[in-house]
Amino acid sequence: MSQKNYSFFGSVEKSFERAAKFTTWERGILEQIKECNGVFQIRFPVKRDDGSIEVIEAYRVQHSQHKTPCKGGIRFAAEVNQDEVMALAALMTFKCAIVNVPFGGAKGGIKINPRKYSAYELEKITRRYTAELIKKNFIGPGIDVPAPDYGTGEREMSWILDTYSAMHPSEIDAAGCVTGKPVTQGGVRGRREATGLGVFFGLREVCNMPDVMKRLGLTVGVEGKKVVVQGLGNVGYHSAKFFEDAGAIIIGLAEYEGSIHNPNGLNVDEVFQHRKATGSILNFPGATNLPKNTDALELECDILIPAALENVINGENAPRVKAKIIGEAANGPLTPEADEVFIKKGILVVPDMFLNAGGVTVSYFEWLKNLSHVRYGRLEKRFTENLNTHILGQMEELTGKKVSTEEREFIMHGPDEVDLVYSGLEETMINATNEVMDEWKNNPSIPDMRTAAYVVAINKVGTAYAELGIFP
Ligand code: NAD
Repeated sequence: MSQKNYSFFGSVEKSFERAAKFTTWERGILEQIKECNGVFQIRFPVKRDDGSIEVIEAYRVQHSQHKTPCKGGIRFAAEVNQDEVMALAALMTFKCAIVNVPFGGAKGGIKINPRKYSAYELEKITRRYTAELIKKNFIGPGIDVPAPDYGTGEREMSWILDTYSAMHPSEIDAAGCVTGKPVTQGGVRGRREATGLGVFFGLREVCNMPDVMKRLGLTVGVEGKKVVVQGLGNVGYHSAKFFEDAGAIIIGLAEYEGSIHNPNGLNVDEVFQHRKATGSILNFPGATNLPKNTDALELECDILIPAALENVINGENAPRVKAKIIGEAANGPLTPEADEVFIKKGILVVPDMFLNAGGVTVSYFEWLKNLSHVRYGRLEKRFTENLNTHILGQMEELTGKKVSTEEREFIMHGPDEVDLVYSGLEETMINATNEVMDEWKNNPSIPDMRTAAYVVAINKVGTAYAELGIFP
């Protein structure tokens, strides 16, 4: 399929329909679950630093309000279009359902290449976009809560919060209008690395399933697994880092400008620093340069993690992919044609729909923190430490033995915010991975894990709609 004719929303619809056959919902409910509830398309002018005026194209799509608020990131990319934002909004609905985050799905996009704008221009664009959302009631802690996505981060979320707060001066919960904020602006510790950590937790759970590993001809566990990551941004960097910390070998990395390969392993932080210093991952000491950013996708490895953009593995290059497991850290990196190839080849695709849900899960924790106006761990940390000290003292007295200083610190430690966030994320990802895998195992005619994930999502959203009683 040519890139021109490719519809991302069409591919989501295709996957949805494939899964719908394995559910018992009537057609009307399926249609309501599938369609986007609201599409907001905006154009607004911005004065560039050189004095010229440019008209900016932007979107916010609310896919579902079966739970409110709806939630989803904002993307800054030259390729942004309505079809893409609709698809990403739909994926958000299904993603939230699978990980039991009580939000509907939404997504936003501004059609700009952020690299071509100054920080001042980006601030003006972000603030104007926020003002447009406010005018149409498309943002608010109980309405629709944006977050970072490709090309955006904490800085843009701060601008959104500041614009929203300025226009809602008496709203006590204003901080909950956006997530992915810096910690000083009401963000939660652990949000920055959440999506990558969630990708790691999900894939680690799959690697710990003996029957699945046996089928793929792999050993159980993450340690020693050969991993390739495409995209060294927020999601890719952290995914690679958590795998490296767990003893996996990062043999390939790809960025915009090309790919690098070292079968003995690449040090993720050193590559990151090298790119920062030279502007490119290429020419990293000890590694082989591969000219294209897609070359890394075809390396011999155990786990391939596309963490850049959608549609990077398609009918054309899928037959050359040699990985045993593909973990979709990006949204929609595989086309339906690639899925068909991998089903035939017996390659396990762990789908974006829940694998990259770490960001929205921790965003949910951030939103709860904003509504409760208290830092996680503030109430229980000292109490837990005092209690643990007392229990340890009693044990030492009764046994007449002392534990080591290292053990003492570990046992006594009361939870900080980041401990609770990591633990909530780990629990969420383990449960979601098992729920989807169980759905697949219990119904052998389901062809792949993506379809199983859709089935789980459709059943949850369908149940919510049915319980709302909107289908008399
Ligand atoms: P990011 O902007 O931080 O990083 C993306 C990186 O990919 C950049 O470094 C960019 O240079 C690189 N890149 C772009 N095109 C490439 C190519 N063809 N080959 C190799 N590298 C390329 O964005 P991000 O937040 O990490 O998002 C990445 C993907 O993950 C997107 O699909 C996004 O929708 C998805 N995602 C992000 C989050 C989140 O919390 N940030 C959550 C869920 C899903």
